[in-house]
Amino acid sequence: MVLYTPGRTSTYPNTPPREGIRLHFLGGAREVGNVGCVIEDKTGTRLLIDYGLAPTKPPRYPSEAPFVEHAIITHAHIDHIGMAPWLMAHETRLHGTDLTAAVSEIMWSDTYKVSDIEGYPLAWDKRDLETALDSWIPHRFDEWFEIGEWRCRLLPAGHIPGAAMVEIETPEARILWSGDIDTRDSPNAIAASPIDCDLLCLEGTYGGRDHPNRGEEEKRLVSKVLEVVSRGGTALVPAFASGRGQDILRILHREAPHLDVHYDGMGTRVTREWLGCPDFIRDYEEMKAAFRWSRRVTGKSDRKKALGADVIVTTSGMLDGGPAIWYLNRLRHNSTNSILLTGYQAEDSGGRKLLETGTLNIYGNQTNIPLEIDKFNLSNHADHSSLCRFARDCKPSNLVIFHSDSSAANAITEELAKEMQVHNPSNNDPLTIDFSQFE
Ligand SMILES: [Zn+2]
Repeated sequence: MVLYTPGRTSTYPNTPPREGIRLHFLGGAREVGNVGCVIEDKTGTRLLIDYGLAPTKPPRYPSEAPFVEHAIITHAHIDHIGMAPWLMAHETRLHGTDLTAAVSEIMWSDTYKVSDIEGYPLAWDKRDLETALDSWIPHRFDEWFEIGEWRCRLLPAGHIPGAAMVEIETPEARILWSGDIDTRDSPNAIAASPIDCDLLCLEGTYGGRDHPNRGEEEKRLVSKVLEVVSRGGTALVPAFASGRGQDILRILHREAPHLDVHYDGMGTRVTREWLGCPDFIRDYEEMKAAFRWSRRVTGKSDRKKALGADVIVTTSGMLDGGPAIWYLNRLRHNSTNSILLTGYQAEDSGGRKLLETGTLNIYGNQTNIPLEIDKFNLSNHADHSSLCRFARDCKPSNLVIFHSDSSAANAITEELAKEMQVHNPSNNDPLTIDFSQFE
């Protein structure tokens, strides 16, 4: 089933704006994930930033993109990249960092596989995936390139290795698109730094909420792992394939190298791609050492051996599938074992259900999991205070908040509205900002 056909159902305006910069969110406005935004000015230069989906059940997709010659993909998380193969109907060229391009095949293949298993429709097929792989124009950080009348460059966004902010110079305004950002260094990614701009488009995932100190949270994780191991148990650490899993390896390798840590799931393949792009990894040699130190699980017999490990790091991070379920189905019988969640657990995810009810869907059966469960905040997003500080440091006249639910966006708006013009656009409702009035 094809959800939409190129050129038939797009509600995108036919003509460029007369003045100013027009932002048209296809998705990702007043919601987390599902990002896609077309930016256009009166020169008719048009750029799509990100084209993702929200991996809910069923998935949410952004609206149909109009014809775009160029799209910039900020990073290889599914809520930013998942729908990009569909753009091949328009022969769109995809721009991103070398690392984002390198990881894209794994992410798209997984999206394809999951939609097949779960029986959800996907608007692109295997041929689009192949074409998309050939459509990449990879960039290093700080390297300017032209799109129509504009100049663009990608800058480190923190968040995960290879994740980019996008700086765009147009005749009327300088735009900074944050992508998903973290203004703190994480084990594997270097922090995002502010850039002076006229228009800042800022992700607002953690608006209204501040994180605990990252270093302390890492220590708490390590001491919990050591406690589980000392009572003879195995700690299962469900972690996302792109970012969190590798952070966990780095932390454990640094703090407790005597542990027997097994690494399973899609993250092992993602890490191999990372190791092919050294420039994008913070302390690359440390990542390489941590990966080699972990015991990579490559087959069934490895998986059985891992059941006796001190720690198993594996996908999926929200317990919605992947080897984590296989492990839990066995580990659940011994109460010395423990589940250490390391990230946000979405509304309808397995992890959220487990936290709320103590049960998890295992191969179709809602199953009791009588194990210790702990949760750690190792987020790779900037928190409220950091987002507001970042916005102030960029000194924009206009701020657009996206990738944010309404309470988070409201919290940021409340704090910054006196200092800059704050916009909370809606999907499919174009927002045009005329910069002549701000000169
Ligand atoms: Zn992300």
